[in-house]
Amino acid sequence: MTVSPDIEANDALPAEGTPGTQFQPMSMRITIGFFVAIPFFAVIAAIPMAWGGWLSWVDVALFILFWAITGLGITVGYHRFFTHGSFKAGRGIKIMLAVMGSYALEGSVSQWVADHRKHHKFSDVEGDPHSPWLEGDVKFAVLKGFWHSHTGWLFDKEQTSVKQYAPDIDADPDLQLLSKYYPALVVGSLLIPAVLGGLITWSFAGAISAFFWAGLFRVAFIHHVTWSINSVCHIWGKRTFKSRDKSTNVWWLAIPSFGESWHSLHHAEPTSARHGVLKGQVDLSAVFIRTLEVLKLVNDVRWPKPERVERKLVDPSLAPRIRGYKKAA
Ligand SMILES: [Zn+2]
Ligand SMILES: [Zn+2]
Repeated sequence: MTVSPDIEANDALPAEGTPGTQFQPMSMRITIGFFVAIPFFAVIAAIPMAWGGWLSWVDVALFILFWAITGLGITVGYHRFFTHGSFKAGRGIKIMLAVMGSYALEGSVSQWVADHRKHHKFSDVEGDPHSPWLEGDVKFAVLKGFWHSHTGWLFDKEQTSVKQYAPDIDADPDLQLLSKYYPALVVGSLLIPAVLGGLITWSFAGAISAFFWAGLFRVAFIHHVTWSINSVCHIWGKRTFKSRDKSTNVWWLAIPSFGESWHSLHHAEPTSARHGVLKGQVDLSAVFIRTLEVLKLVNDVRWPKPERVERKLVDPSLAPRIRGYKKAA
Protein backbone atom coordinates (compact mmCIF):
# COMPACT_ATOMS: atom_id res chain seq x y z
CA MET A 1 0.00 0.00 0.00
CA THR A 2 1.36 3.42 -0.92
CA VAL A 3 0.83 6.35 1.36
CA SER A 4 -0.73 9.31 -0.42
CA PRO A 5 1.04 12.68 -0.15
CA ASP A 6 -2.03 14.04 1.67
CA ILE A 7 -1.69 11.52 4.45
CA GLU A 8 2.03 12.24 4.72
CA ALA A 9 1.26 15.94 4.96
CA ASN A 10 -1.35 15.29 7.66
CA ASP A 11 1.11 13.19 9.58
CA ALA A 12 3.44 16.16 9.68
CA LEU A 13 0.82 18.24 11.53
CA PRO A 14 1.25 18.36 15.30
CA ALA A 15 -1.66 15.94 15.70
CA GLU A 16 0.21 13.87 18.23
CA GLY A 17 2.49 16.55 19.75
CA THR A 18 4.15 15.16 22.86
CA PRO A 19 3.88 11.37 22.99
CA GLY A 20 0.52 10.23 24.36
CA THR A 21 -1.29 13.43 23.39
CA GLN A 22 -3.59 14.61 20.63
CA PHE A 23 -4.17 18.14 19.37
CA GLN A 24 -7.23 20.00 20.67
CA PRO A 25 -8.46 22.58 18.14
CA MET A 26 -9.37 26.14 19.13
CA SER A 27 -13.07 25.48 18.34
CA MET A 28 -13.14 22.74 20.99
CA ARG A 29 -11.42 25.00 23.54
CA ILE A 30 -14.04 27.69 22.91
CA THR A 31 -16.85 25.12 23.32
CA ILE A 32 -15.35 23.92 26.61
CA GLY A 33 -15.00 27.54 27.76
CA PHE A 34 -18.69 28.07 27.06
CA PHE A 35 -19.72 25.01 29.08
CA VAL A 36 -17.39 25.92 31.95
CA ALA A 37 -18.42 29.58 32.13
CA ILE A 38 -22.21 29.46 31.68
CA PRO A 39 -22.93 27.06 34.58
CA PHE A 40 -20.40 29.00 36.69
CA PHE A 41 -22.40 32.21 36.16
CA ALA A 42 -25.32 30.26 37.62
CA VAL A 43 -23.29 29.78 40.82
CA ILE A 44 -22.69 33.53 41.02
CA ALA A 45 -26.39 34.19 40.45
CA ALA A 46 -27.51 31.49 42.91
CA ILE A 47 -27.54 33.54 46.13
CA PRO A 48 -29.54 36.50 44.77
CA MET A 49 -31.88 34.02 43.03
CA ALA A 50 -32.54 32.10 46.26
CA TRP A 51 -32.80 35.37 48.22
CA GLY A 52 -35.34 36.67 45.74
CA GLY A 53 -37.58 33.63 46.27
CA TRP A 54 -36.58 31.82 43.05
CA LEU A 55 -35.94 28.52 44.83
CA SER A 56 -38.79 26.10 45.62
CA TRP A 57 -38.86 22.64 47.19
CA VAL A 58 -39.48 21.25 43.70
CA ASP A 59 -36.17 22.82 42.60
CA VAL A 60 -34.36 21.34 45.62
CA ALA A 61 -35.81 17.87 44.94
CA LEU A 62 -34.94 18.01 41.23
CA PHE A 63 -31.45 19.30 42.04
CA ILE A 64 -30.82 16.34 44.39
CA LEU A 65 -32.25 13.85 41.88
CA PHE A 66 -30.14 15.09 38.94
CA TRP A 67 -27.06 15.61 41.14
CA ALA A 68 -27.32 11.95 42.22
CA ILE A 69 -27.99 10.57 38.71
CA THR A 70 -25.19 12.51 37.01
CA GLY A 71 -22.73 12.49 39.93
CA LEU A 72 -22.95 8.69 40.22
CA GLY A 73 -22.66 8.52 36.42
CA ILE A 74 -19.21 10.09 36.79
CA THR A 75 -18.01 8.32 39.93
CA VAL A 76 -19.44 4.83 39.42
CA GLY A 77 -19.67 4.92 35.61
CA TYR A 78 -16.89 7.01 34.08
CA HIS A 79 -14.43 6.49 36.94
CA ARG A 80 -14.78 3.18 38.77
CA PHE A 81 -16.28 1.15 35.89
CA PHE A 82 -15.00 2.52 32.56
CA THR A 83 -11.58 3.79 33.72
CA HIS A 84 -10.60 1.23 36.35
CA GLY A 85 -12.81 -1.84 35.74
CA SER A 86 -13.76 -2.13 39.44
CA PHE A 87 -16.67 -4.39 38.45
CA LYS A 88 -18.22 -6.07 35.43
CA ALA A 89 -21.60 -5.16 33.92
CA GLY A 90 -23.78 -6.19 30.99
CA ARG A 91 -24.63 -4.03 28.00
CA GLY A 92 -27.73 -2.39 29.54
CA ILE A 93 -25.93 -1.20 32.69
CA LYS A 94 -22.91 -0.11 30.63
CA ILE A 95 -25.11 2.13 28.45
CA MET A 96 -27.05 3.40 31.47
CA LEU A 97 -23.83 4.42 33.28
CA ALA A 98 -22.43 6.09 30.16
CA VAL A 99 -25.62 8.13 29.66
CA MET A 100 -25.73 9.13 33.34
CA GLY A 101 -22.07 10.25 33.15
CA SER A 102 -22.60 12.11 29.86
CA TYR A 103 -25.35 14.14 31.55
CA ALA A 104 -22.71 15.64 33.87
CA LEU A 105 -21.31 17.58 30.89
CA GLU A 106 -17.70 16.53 31.47
CA GLY A 107 -17.18 15.32 27.90
CA SER A 108 -17.58 11.95 26.24
CA VAL A 109 -16.57 8.83 28.15
CA SER A 110 -13.53 8.09 25.92
CA GLN A 111 -11.72 11.42 26.53
CA TRP A 112 -12.53 11.36 30.26
CA VAL A 113 -11.17 7.82 30.63
CA ALA A 114 -8.03 8.62 28.61
CA ASP A 115 -7.28 11.72 30.72
CA HIS A 116 -7.82 9.87 33.95
CA ARG A 117 -5.75 6.80 33.04
CA LYS A 118 -2.87 9.12 32.08
CA HIS A 119 -3.29 10.92 35.42
CA HIS A 120 -2.76 7.60 37.23
CA LYS A 121 0.19 6.63 35.04
CA PHE A 122 2.10 9.88 35.66
CA SER A 123 0.44 11.13 38.86
CA ASP A 124 2.12 14.36 39.96
CA VAL A 125 5.10 13.99 37.57
CA GLU A 126 5.67 15.26 34.01
CA GLY A 127 2.93 13.78 31.77
CA ASP A 128 0.11 14.11 34.33
CA PRO A 129 -2.60 16.11 32.49
CA HIS A 130 -3.77 17.89 35.67
CA SER A 131 -1.22 17.82 38.47
CA PRO A 132 -1.08 20.97 40.63
CA TRP A 133 2.64 20.37 41.22
CA LEU A 134 4.17 21.02 37.79
CA GLU A 135 4.11 24.83 37.72
CA GLY A 136 7.77 25.13 38.70
CA ASP A 137 9.28 27.62 41.10
CA VAL A 138 7.21 30.62 40.06
CA LYS A 139 5.79 33.00 42.63
CA PHE A 140 2.29 31.88 43.61
CA ALA A 141 3.13 28.40 42.25
CA VAL A 142 0.48 26.75 44.46
CA LEU A 143 -2.20 29.16 43.20
CA LYS A 144 -1.14 28.62 39.60
CA GLY A 145 -1.01 24.87 40.20
CA PHE A 146 -4.46 24.95 41.78
CA TRP A 147 -5.94 26.77 38.78
CA HIS A 148 -4.24 24.44 36.29
CA SER A 149 -5.36 21.25 38.08
CA HIS A 150 -8.88 22.56 38.73
CA THR A 151 -9.87 24.01 35.34
CA GLY A 152 -6.92 25.35 33.33
CA TRP A 153 -5.78 21.96 32.00
CA LEU A 154 -9.04 21.58 30.04
CA PHE A 155 -7.80 24.33 27.72
CA ASP A 156 -4.35 22.83 27.00
CA LYS A 157 -3.62 22.52 23.28
CA GLU A 158 -2.40 18.98 23.80
CA GLN A 159 -4.91 16.57 25.26
CA THR A 160 -4.47 12.91 26.17
CA SER A 161 -4.57 10.56 23.19
CA VAL A 162 -7.76 8.50 23.28
CA LYS A 163 -6.24 5.96 20.87
CA GLN A 164 -3.35 5.34 23.23
CA TYR A 165 -5.07 5.48 26.63
CA ALA A 166 -8.65 4.37 25.98
CA PRO A 167 -8.60 2.07 22.91
CA ASP A 168 -11.14 -0.25 24.56
CA ILE A 169 -13.65 2.59 25.01
CA ASP A 170 -12.89 3.97 21.54
CA ALA A 171 -13.66 0.59 19.95
CA ASP A 172 -17.01 0.03 21.71
CA PRO A 173 -19.86 0.61 19.18
CA ASP A 174 -22.40 1.61 21.88
CA LEU A 175 -20.03 4.21 23.34
CA GLN A 176 -19.14 5.45 19.83
CA LEU A 177 -22.82 6.08 19.21
CA LEU A 178 -23.25 7.95 22.51
CA SER A 179 -20.18 10.02 21.68
CA LYS A 180 -21.62 10.84 18.24
CA TYR A 181 -24.88 12.05 19.81
CA TYR A 182 -23.19 13.75 22.75
CA PRO A 183 -24.66 17.20 21.88
CA ALA A 184 -28.16 15.68 22.15
CA LEU A 185 -27.28 14.32 25.60
CA VAL A 186 -26.11 17.80 26.65
CA VAL A 187 -29.44 19.29 25.57
CA GLY A 188 -31.30 16.48 27.40
CA SER A 189 -29.34 17.04 30.59
CA LEU A 190 -30.42 20.68 30.72
CA LEU A 191 -33.95 20.36 29.33
CA ILE A 192 -35.29 17.29 31.18
CA PRO A 193 -35.16 19.01 34.62
CA ALA A 194 -36.87 22.06 33.10
CA VAL A 195 -39.66 19.96 31.59
CA LEU A 196 -40.16 18.09 34.89
CA GLY A 197 -40.18 21.38 36.85
CA GLY A 198 -42.75 22.81 34.44
CA LEU A 199 -44.99 19.72 34.63
CA ILE A 200 -44.84 19.39 38.43
CA THR A 201 -45.63 23.07 39.08
CA TRP A 202 -47.70 23.37 35.90
CA SER A 203 -46.10 26.74 35.21
CA PHE A 204 -43.53 28.33 32.91
CA ALA A 205 -41.84 29.96 35.91
CA GLY A 206 -41.43 26.48 37.46
CA ALA A 207 -39.71 25.27 34.29
CA ILE A 208 -37.29 28.22 34.25
CA SER A 209 -36.53 27.84 37.93
CA ALA A 210 -35.84 24.06 37.58
CA PHE A 211 -33.71 24.75 34.47
CA PHE A 212 -31.58 27.08 36.59
CA TRP A 213 -31.23 24.93 39.74
CA ALA A 214 -31.37 21.31 38.50
CA GLY A 215 -29.80 22.18 35.13
CA LEU A 216 -27.16 24.93 35.17
CA PHE A 217 -26.42 25.13 38.91
CA ARG A 218 -26.28 21.33 39.24
CA VAL A 219 -23.83 21.07 36.29
CA ALA A 220 -21.55 23.70 37.85
CA PHE A 221 -21.75 21.95 41.22
CA ILE A 222 -20.71 18.59 39.75
CA HIS A 223 -17.98 20.19 37.62
CA HIS A 224 -16.33 21.86 40.59
CA VAL A 225 -16.65 18.84 42.87
CA THR A 226 -15.06 16.59 40.20
CA TRP A 227 -12.29 19.10 39.57
CA SER A 228 -11.70 19.43 43.32
CA ILE A 229 -10.60 15.80 43.31
CA ASN A 230 -7.85 16.83 40.87
CA SER A 231 -6.93 20.03 42.74
CA VAL A 232 -7.88 19.94 46.45
CA CYS A 233 -7.25 16.18 46.82
CA HIS A 234 -3.70 16.58 45.46
CA ILE A 235 -2.79 19.69 47.53
CA TRP A 236 -4.55 19.66 50.93
CA GLY A 237 -5.86 16.85 53.15
CA LYS A 238 -4.31 13.78 54.69
CA ARG A 239 -1.98 11.23 53.10
CA THR A 240 -3.41 8.19 54.86
CA PHE A 241 -2.12 5.60 52.38
CA LYS A 242 1.23 5.04 50.69
CA SER A 243 1.37 5.99 47.00
CA ARG A 244 4.05 7.58 44.84
CA ASP A 245 2.10 10.85 44.36
CA LYS A 246 0.66 13.60 46.56
CA SER A 247 -2.96 12.37 46.66
CA THR A 248 -4.88 12.94 49.89
CA ASN A 249 -8.09 12.06 51.75
CA VAL A 250 -10.38 15.10 52.19
CA TRP A 251 -13.30 14.34 54.54
CA TRP A 252 -15.45 17.42 53.81
CA LEU A 253 -15.76 16.51 50.12
CA ALA A 254 -16.86 12.92 50.86
CA ILE A 255 -20.61 13.47 50.51
CA PRO A 256 -20.66 15.96 47.58
CA SER A 257 -18.15 13.77 45.70
CA PHE A 258 -19.96 10.46 46.41
CA GLY A 259 -16.87 9.09 48.16
CA GLU A 260 -14.28 10.09 45.55
CA SER A 261 -12.43 12.39 47.97
CA TRP A 262 -10.95 9.35 49.75
CA HIS A 263 -8.38 9.91 47.05
CA SER A 264 -5.30 8.75 48.99
CA LEU A 265 -6.73 5.21 49.12
CA HIS A 266 -7.74 5.46 45.47
CA HIS A 267 -4.17 6.13 44.32
CA ALA A 268 -2.89 3.33 46.57
CA GLU A 269 -5.52 0.83 45.27
CA PRO A 270 -6.89 2.23 41.97
CA THR A 271 -9.11 -0.72 41.02
CA SER A 272 -10.89 -0.94 44.38
CA ALA A 273 -14.68 -0.47 44.08
CA ARG A 274 -14.68 1.20 47.52
CA HIS A 275 -12.55 4.29 48.24
CA GLY A 276 -13.77 5.00 51.79
CA VAL A 277 -12.20 1.89 53.36
CA LEU A 278 -11.92 3.08 56.96
CA LYS A 279 -14.89 2.90 59.34
CA GLY A 280 -16.91 6.12 59.22
CA GLN A 281 -15.67 7.11 55.74
CA VAL A 282 -18.91 7.63 53.79
CA ASP A 283 -18.67 6.34 50.21
CA LEU A 284 -22.06 6.62 48.47
CA SER A 285 -20.62 5.30 45.17
CA ALA A 286 -19.67 2.06 46.93
CA VAL A 287 -23.23 1.88 48.36
CA PHE A 288 -24.62 2.25 44.81
CA ILE A 289 -22.27 -0.45 43.44
CA ARG A 290 -23.25 -2.78 46.31
CA THR A 291 -26.94 -2.16 45.55
CA LEU A 292 -26.38 -3.05 41.88
CA GLU A 293 -24.48 -6.16 42.99
CA VAL A 294 -27.29 -7.30 45.34
CA LEU A 295 -29.75 -6.80 42.47
CA LYS A 296 -27.42 -8.97 40.33
CA LEU A 297 -26.99 -6.14 37.82
CA VAL A 298 -23.18 -6.10 38.19
CA ASN A 299 -20.70 -8.81 39.11
CA ASP A 300 -17.01 -9.51 39.88
CA VAL A 301 -16.87 -6.42 42.10
CA ARG A 302 -13.33 -5.75 43.31
CA TRP A 303 -14.02 -4.99 46.99
CA PRO A 304 -10.91 -4.00 48.95
CA LYS A 305 -9.09 -6.70 50.90
CA PRO A 306 -8.44 -5.56 54.51
CA GLU A 307 -4.98 -7.18 54.62
CA ARG A 308 -3.88 -5.38 51.42
CA VAL A 309 -5.32 -2.08 52.71
CA GLU A 310 -3.43 -2.56 55.99
CA ARG A 311 -0.10 -2.91 54.15
CA LYS A 312 -0.73 0.45 52.42
CA LEU A 313 -1.38 2.41 55.64
CA VAL A 314 1.11 5.19 56.40
CA ASP A 315 0.25 4.84 60.11
CA PRO A 316 -0.14 1.10 60.91
CA SER A 317 -1.94 1.88 64.18
CA LEU A 318 -5.02 2.79 62.09
CA ALA A 319 -5.47 -0.91 61.09
CA PRO A 320 -8.40 -1.59 63.49
CA ARG A 321 -10.32 1.19 61.69
CA ILE A 322 -10.31 -0.74 58.36
CA ARG A 323 -13.76 -2.05 57.45
CA GLY A 324 -13.84 -5.84 57.88
CA TYR A 325 -10.49 -5.85 59.70
CA LYS A 326 -9.75 -8.90 61.82
CA LYS A 327 -6.69 -8.90 64.05
CA ALA A 328 -4.28 -11.72 63.08
CA ALA A 329 -4.36 -14.52 65.70
ZN1 LIG B 1 -5.58 11.80 41.56
ZN1 LIG C 1 -8.88 6.91 39.27
